[in-house]
Amino acid sequence: MRARPSNLRAVSDETVTMDKIVALCKRRGFVLPASEIYGGIANTYDYGHYGTLMKNNVVNAWWRSMVQLRDDVVALDSAIIQHPRTWEASGHLQGFTDPLVQCLGKCKRRFRADHLREEAIARGEDPDALVCPVCGGELSEPRDFNLMFETAIGPVRDEGSTVYLRPETAQGIFLNFKSTLQFARKKPPFGIAQVGKSFRNEITPGNFVFRMLEFSQMEMEFFVPPAEAERWHEYWMRERMEWYTRLGIREDHLRLRAHDADELSHYSTATSDVEYLYPIGWQELEGIANRGDFDLRQHAEYSREKLEYFDSGTGERYVPHVIEPAAGVDRSMLSFLCDAYDEDQQGGEKRTVLKLHPALAPVKVAVLPLVRKDGQPEVAREIYETLRERMWAEYDEGGSIGKRYRRQDEIGTPYGITVDHQTLEDRTVTLRDRDTLEQVRVAIDELPAELEHRLAAPWRSPKPQRAAA
Ligand code: ATP
Repeated sequence: MRARPSNLRAVSDETVTMDKIVALCKRRGFVLPASEIYGGIANTYDYGHYGTLMKNNVVNAWWRSMVQLRDDVVALDSAIIQHPRTWEASGHLQGFTDPLVQCLGKCKRRFRADHLREEAIARGEDPDALVCPVCGGELSEPRDFNLMFETAIGPVRDEGSTVYLRPETAQGIFLNFKSTLQFARKKPPFGIAQVGKSFRNEITPGNFVFRMLEFSQMEMEFFVPPAEAERWHEYWMRERMEWYTRLGIREDHLRLRAHDADELSHYSTATSDVEYLYPIGWQELEGIANRGDFDLRQHAEYSREKLEYFDSGTGERYVPHVIEPAAGVDRSMLSFLCDAYDEDQQGGEKRTVLKLHPALAPVKVAVLPLVRKDGQPEVAREIYETLRERMWAEYDEGGSIGKRYRRQDEIGTPYGITVDHQTLEDRTVTLRDRDTLEQVRVAIDELPAELEHRLAAPWRSPKPQRAAA
């Protein structure tokens, strides 16, 4: 059911490392270790102020391209806990497992056997002669470990009360296929899109938000006439790659990798992963699967409902096939952050900057009075209060102007406005561009239109591609 890791240790040749991203995220309140005052909890993170804003931007960009700008996809927000039969029908109860091995030597750590095998192959070693990568100890035989979190409904915990936290959002979509078909007045090809939390009891810790126990997915199930499945699979692979590059990911840090036959999930006839070159190597960011008619047939059998499409015009009746682009919100965030992270020298000092697409940047503009006197703070606040009606803006008067710009650069704010002594004379301000550092003077009255124009313009990452780096 799960894709084989395809990392193979290609390393991004840049200044960005996972440690730097983790440190910046903590320093600036993007992503924080959860339950930190109690010592933290494995693979679990909280999003702070800027992280929450940016995550919303990622999700909104997905809704926009997936639903708002199309007329063949509708939205859904289904429950996290569904009827337990759902997971019997979907195959998750039986097959949503990872092969777990435990170190029998000193460290007693747990690993995914499939990951260790891949890594051994990448190093040119024998994948059948694995030892513990931490202490060199002997490893146990692999055993299948189900990743679904169990809980119970009601005060008495017995067999009948067991339910599961969904490990993917997709099944809620299949359960709503019939009702959506009726009220949305759609016919295949059409899709149902959903964003929400999923839960997996992952074995292997580490790698920040790349692998969490609780994470958000953006999934869309696209129902098509069976004969058109391959064509739509191709279409969605192109579409999804373009979504990432339109939002600024550099083309050479993104690739599509088709699954080998032996790594395909039981439901899939073809799957390709969108992979990003993270500091930890090439890894899956999104899976785009041709799920055939597996899910609808399974749920039809288990629920005894007819889950098919009947075309009253032609009299044709069929079970649609499904193409599924399934992306992770947190892995997308991580890709956007890694791709944006940069360091340079400004005025003899190191600058850390997030060169984020303006649509993803948590704050679009910062308004800064040059000094905290001479009426400058009052004018700056007035500008800020006008701008915040139209876009996420921030007002900051604490510390030197250089420090305040550094802070905004680190959270990826694309534009900075400085109010200075000239502002009081002619009602103009300086407008600074985060990427080019160009500063121009703009009249206060023209600021909203000027900023909106700049924020809506197409944007490309100013960072070099890999070959040129
Ligand atoms: P992997 O092989 O890395 O475990 P997967 O193939 O099981 O991933 P899918 O079931 O295809 O993942 O889920 C779709 C998307 O959901 C993934 O591409 C990823 O972006 C995201 N995702 C899956 N598991 C996690 C997780 N534990 N933490 C964060 N994001 C996840």
